[in-house]
Amino acid sequence: MTSTIDDQVETRTLHHWAGGKPVEGTSGRFSDVTNPATGAVTAHLPLADADEAASVIAAAQAAFPGWRDTSLSRRTQILFRFRELLNQRAPELAELITAEHGKVLSDAAGEVARGQEVVEFACGMPHLLKGSATENASTGVDVHSVRQPLGVVGIISPFNFPAMVPMWFFPIAVAAGNTVVLKPSEKVPSAALWMAELWREAGLPDGVFNVLNGDRTAVDALLTSPDVKSVSFVGSTPIARYVYETATAHGKRVQALGGAKNHMVVLPDADLDLAADQAVNAGFGSAGERCMAVSALVAVGDIADTLVDKIAERARALHTGDGRRSCDMGPLVTAAARERVTGYIDAGETEGATVVVDGRTGEYDADPAPDTDGGFFVGPTLLDRVGTGMSVYTDEIFGPVLSVLRVDTYEQAVDLVNANPYGNGTAIFTNDGGAARRFQNEVEVGMIGVNVPVPVPMAYYSFGGWKNSLFGDTHAHGTEGVHFFTRAKVVTTRWLDPSHAGVDLGFPTNG
Ligand code: NAD
Repeated sequence: MTSTIDDQVETRTLHHWAGGKPVEGTSGRFSDVTNPATGAVTAHLPLADADEAASVIAAAQAAFPGWRDTSLSRRTQILFRFRELLNQRAPELAELITAEHGKVLSDAAGEVARGQEVVEFACGMPHLLKGSATENASTGVDVHSVRQPLGVVGIISPFNFPAMVPMWFFPIAVAAGNTVVLKPSEKVPSAALWMAELWREAGLPDGVFNVLNGDRTAVDALLTSPDVKSVSFVGSTPIARYVYETATAHGKRVQALGGAKNHMVVLPDADLDLAADQAVNAGFGSAGERCMAVSALVAVGDIADTLVDKIAERARALHTGDGRRSCDMGPLVTAAARERVTGYIDAGETEGATVVVDGRTGEYDADPAPDTDGGFFVGPTLLDRVGTGMSVYTDEIFGPVLSVLRVDTYEQAVDLVNANPYGNGTAIFTNDGGAARRFQNEVEVGMIGVNVPVPVPMAYYSFGGWKNSLFGDTHAHGTEGVHFFTRAKVVTTRWLDPSHAGVDLGFPTNG
């Protein structure tokens, strides 16, 4: 296995992974991978040109017929071996994630565990792929249905979940008999290469799982290649829309999950200590770099002052620093992300929000690398009296910034959530079962939590948002994932035709 970044003494040069082995980049284009906690450049990542992308896709295409024809039982055994290896080595993968993403180790381990749940779901593929059969649908005529793999499938993933998001898709795709080209985020590429090596150890035939590193050139190759049959994308809304439009125009099936602005509605009867704890967990976990992070807290009625005080007290107590140390919150992924987030806090202040807790200043538990300005830290930030016209509300900030909006009634809260163009996740905090039931029925969002702030569905349900948070009609994993990575075939059979009815050009009818 690749050594973890902690062990390394020199900046590594990374590669693609195709046909079961590492493949050097040939384009001459590279991007830097950094450790966000120290600012050090830890790796140079090759960015594929069109020829390199075509050869990785060709490796997946070459492996498809053999993998499609491999028995379901053998495919499933390899999935189980992948699961066992991942269980044994999960801490290594978590370390790699922390070193490139910055999230604290426990959070990285949690991400791996949530991905592993999809591997476990996909281990049940023999059951999930069972078709249906009807005997004697017409006299002497039987009908059965099967689901078959698509071919080469493309997966394009974001920086914030380098292991879990690819695992939303590839265990199901592979178990169903497809071959995969994964294009990870260029900011956090090592997890994908590590998982490719794990597949090899698990006995996956060469070429079934491939990694194509790169930027827009690599993405465009996947969106337009006639050999790629589907695209599963997760990232920001503008790119999700572009991916959806381009890949569907090239005849592919596409699921493109986009950005988010998740609201947590707190009703006046809620347990405010519980709500404050959960607002802090959901707002500042992973430094707010989660698509299910709560970024807008909607306080209903007269609870806002008390709730803001309770959240502020908890936010001030958080310890921010290098995710490999025992901190609550790590850095942001890049220097550019830090600049963007502090820019939004500046704008919120200028536009009239009250900065209750200010993450622009603070102490961080981290050692800067030599010749750098150090890690990309922004502390937890709490903004109160935020208005719906302010950029801190209209835009996805993707950082540790929690905005409080005050409304008078439940109806105003629901109207506010429904007017937002995103619809990924939302939560309501209340002790009123009737209000909670009404909320889950009325709110126009894909994933709802009732006293659960980050309602990420289990692997056997499907993950996906509404509105600008998802383009396409299929969510990730669960039975929707199985349908996405397979296509249906219905077979009508007649072995006995005693009537020998002769030529009849009429439309076949049942009898
Ligand atoms: P991003 O959109 O910048 O990048 C996602 C992927 O697209 C990467 O692999 C990247 O290389 C590629 N890409 C970037 N710019 C491109 C371009 N111009 N043309 C073609 N490809 C391009 O997203 P990110 O910053 O890596 O991730 C954060 C975003 O992802 C946030 O908006 C977050 O909400 C979203 N996200 C959504 C979900 C979800 O389930 N809806 C889950 C995780 C993250």
